[in-house]
Amino acid sequence: MVTLTRETVIEAIDVEPSQLPEEAMGTLSGEKLRQLTKLVPVAGNEGPGLQVVSPATGARLAEYPHGTPATVRKAVQRARRAQAEWAETEVAERGAVLMRYHDLILSRREEILDLIQLETGKARKSAFEEVADVAMVSRYYALNAERHLGPHQRKGALPGLTSTWEHHRPKGVVGIISPWNYPLSMAITDALPALMAGNGVVLKPDQKTPFTALWALELLQEAGLPYDLFQIVTGKGSELGSPLINQVDYIAFTGSTKTGRIVARQAAERLIGCSLELGGKNPMIVLADAHLENAVDGAIRGCFANAGQLCISIERLYVHESIFERFVQRLVARVSRMSLDAALDFEADMGSLVSREQLDKVEGQVLGAVVKGAKILAGGHPRPEIGPYFFEPTVLQGVTEDMEICDEETFGPVVSVSPFDSLEEAIHLANDSRYGLNASIWTSDPEVGRELAARIQAGTVNINEAYAATWASIDAPMGGFKESGLGRRHGAEGILKYTEAQTVAVQRGLPIASPAGVGEEDFSQLMSGALRLLRWIPGLR
Ligand code: NAD
Repeated sequence: MVTLTRETVIEAIDVEPSQLPEEAMGTLSGEKLRQLTKLVPVAGNEGPGLQVVSPATGARLAEYPHGTPATVRKAVQRARRAQAEWAETEVAERGAVLMRYHDLILSRREEILDLIQLETGKARKSAFEEVADVAMVSRYYALNAERHLGPHQRKGALPGLTSTWEHHRPKGVVGIISPWNYPLSMAITDALPALMAGNGVVLKPDQKTPFTALWALELLQEAGLPYDLFQIVTGKGSELGSPLINQVDYIAFTGSTKTGRIVARQAAERLIGCSLELGGKNPMIVLADAHLENAVDGAIRGCFANAGQLCISIERLYVHESIFERFVQRLVARVSRMSLDAALDFEADMGSLVSREQLDKVEGQVLGAVVKGAKILAGGHPRPEIGPYFFEPTVLQGVTEDMEICDEETFGPVVSVSPFDSLEEAIHLANDSRYGLNASIWTSDPEVGRELAARIQAGTVNINEAYAATWASIDAPMGGFKESGLGRRHGAEGILKYTEAQTVAVQRGLPIASPAGVGEEDFSQLMSGALRLLRWIPGLR
């Protein structure tokens, strides 16, 4: 009998991945995936294609074009041509496309859930988070973009004589570089406000998950988006990232802090704007008065959604010492019962990691911590008999500063749990990180939670929820403090960043200068009097 180990499974896969059979593709087919690759512009020098390997099984899913800098050039040119006409459309017309998209994505969800699962190996409930997110962002910007974009009348320089408006003009072509972890959400939700603001978009999805993005683009075209306006280039970030940033008018990047720095440097060199949505090492604080069951429930969702491959997931749990034992006992019992699978149904609690690199990183951090004295309370091991990159949901205790896992993002299903004895200590522990993306506080007194939030260095703070409350509040900004990023998605900032603000003022009657026949000295006296007066007039000051 052959014993399956992680090594034997991975070696077999790395040597020659077999083709995923059609019957394992759910509502999809090989032919459908081939069709999707036709959406990618071809410049003639692409060479042999790249492959997507389905992480849950290690089998080949499909091949797609290996884009080059010439492909990027072609894509940007096409998007630029189409953008000129799109910028002339009414915001309401663009909104109608997004509302049709909203309806389509909900009614076609089974197909996209299958595809997301096949490309990432995640559990179906984590895939559904993406569908819901895209629907919410579509609806929000379809119905609210006009309010943010204006034009808005502003107070003029001279009341009654100067009429002033603030306009927001599209940047032109927006580049988007997105990661694999939420391949639908991360590729599309930043594109939707860019389109609503009148821009064209060129997206480079991660090389592990191009088909989800292509499927989403096909659906946008079905919803009525002009064909060339939104382009997708497929290939490696190290080859296509730089040519893309070199040609677009704004770059929205989501990914690691390391790559974010490269993107920021290039954007700075070109003096184009950029937003960077980067990594996190997010804390959750459980106060003594928290509802214990709810907090444990929240921790399970916060730590293990998407197998922890979520920028806003919880990787550090701080629990008040008076409830620490009881909390940990319940948490460990729940984690030990979690089911792992990536079948195309809603049965599993958690799916696979996305790749061998992810598995090595997660396992390496856990082993490194254990060698230095951390204790595994639950999980801690790969599960090759389920699939090549599965790793158990894991709870660690006794993580100390000398361990890599203490402040490096794990981006996997691993959480460390530690007690604290005072609010001051909890705040210090939560803020003791170079990251500042998300935080969670559990208490039966929401006012105490809000006061505490003011002292937490994180772009989003969820009280009595792990991450979903802030993430799904699309009207409010989302992004990171410190090394977790620059700029925000969602809300007003999430669309205005894709525009150039332009102030237009009409002057009537008198100029803003001494009128004919009035000397400069008299004018300065007149103006000083008028300015003093303006200070007191409500509505004008
Ligand atoms: P990554 O930085 O390796 O890759 C992200 C994207 O950048 C991919 O499309 C990749 O092809 C591209 N890329 C790679 N090298 C590039 C280069 N030199 N120039 C331009 N683009 C390049 O990140 P990853 O490991 O794939 O994604 C996981 C990371 O993303 C985690 O750190 C996670 O926290 C972060 N993330 C953040 C958010 C957020 O909203 N803050 C959301 C999701 C993921």
